[in-house]
Amino acid sequence: MVTTELENGIRALELKAIQKCKRCKEIDALVIVRQESLCSECFDKYVRSKYIKRMESFRVRYAPNDTGVIVPTQTTLLIPLSFGVSSTALLNLISNQLKAQRQRSNGQTGYNCLVIHVDESCVDPSVPPQESISAVQERFSDIGTFRVVNIEDIYDFRNVAREVELDHGVDEEKGGSDTFDKKEVLMHLLSSLPSTTSRMDILSILRTRLIVEIAKKEGCAAVLWGDSTTRLAQKTLAETAKGRGFSIPWQTADGDSPFGIEFRYPVRDLLKNELVNYVSIPLPTSPKPLLPLCVAYSPDAKHTAANAASGRNITIDELMIQYFDGIETQYPSIVANVVSTAGKLKPLRRPAGINISCKICGLPGDGAGGDITLSALTLNAVTELNAESSMCYGCARAMHGAGAYDWPLEP
Ligand SMILES: [Zn+2]
Ligand SMILES: [Zn+2]
Repeated sequence: MVTTELENGIRALELKAIQKCKRCKEIDALVIVRQESLCSECFDKYVRSKYIKRMESFRVRYAPNDTGVIVPTQTTLLIPLSFGVSSTALLNLISNQLKAQRQRSNGQTGYNCLVIHVDESCVDPSVPPQESISAVQERFSDIGTFRVVNIEDIYDFRNVAREVELDHGVDEEKGGSDTFDKKEVLMHLLSSLPSTTSRMDILSILRTRLIVEIAKKEGCAAVLWGDSTTRLAQKTLAETAKGRGFSIPWQTADGDSPFGIEFRYPVRDLLKNELVNYVSIPLPTSPKPLLPLCVAYSPDAKHTAANAASGRNITIDELMIQYFDGIETQYPSIVANVVSTAGKLKPLRRPAGINISCKICGLPGDGAGGDITLSALTLNAVTELNAESSMCYGCARAMHGAGAYDWPLEP
């Protein structure tokens, strides 16, 4: 982290010596954005404009209340916070949008936020400690409430149908509410999966589904994901490689999700390195750089090129992260193209009333015929549990070979 700050500083100094900002032509340039040298003020404006374009609909609105008096309406938006660069940058953008709304609308805002951090320490002890949320909360106290939930809490959302199915899952006694050890059951589920790619894949599905369940329980109008263009491109290719290509429209598009709640990606038009710059330098909207709050961010690649080449010790997701992180500075348009091409994919339409959702990822799957389904079903036929027949191809592959496990949710 210190290295990045230093590097940014040096890069900034080098720029300083040579040029003025290309936009205002007055202030010294501090960062290079898509071949353009910008000062921190123009860069701040650039990032804000990309964000606002995606968030215009969340303006202050008024409607009559029960007694017919016109009052401002409020919605709550859920923001998952990973302590990475993108979600932290998103909080600053939100904070400034709300500030501007308050100034313009007599102290009113169009929405407030529920910021959720999913603590995954039971799976990976190296994840940021829960306490990191206090610093973020202190910095953005004006945007709403902050909460830490544990990944194993997904088992709190098990429904009645699931309880019945427990009969042929793990120990029946664990279905009892008092004796049920969520951590243990989750660890058992993950350890029964065939590969590291499967474990990462299923963990990220559980994280998404936990966030969705909380958003619905709390009556939130939408989930605002912090995915950058780079992240969406990574996701697009990784999901395709994992055999879940059908799910791309659901996982990358702004709008209604199959989970019955709206998904938005407000920083989808910004590259990862732009967001890294955004949190690294002093900005008019955040004179103190936000980087110290991004405790989950590390500038060093997690895996070496040699590892990547040998295909060992690296998951499909990590490989894609490494690939797009590597090319985005030089080829930003390629990264953007992957996302815009994905945006042209249309979700599969089904006749009204027919709902075939995958029981693992919860997305309306590829279960309506075709070769892929046949393959998935063939795969299922050889597994010990018949329950897999309600999975999409990608999930069937991820769960393939797993022994008895307890899945927390229904589609
Ligand atoms: Zn400027
Ligand atoms: Zn699935």
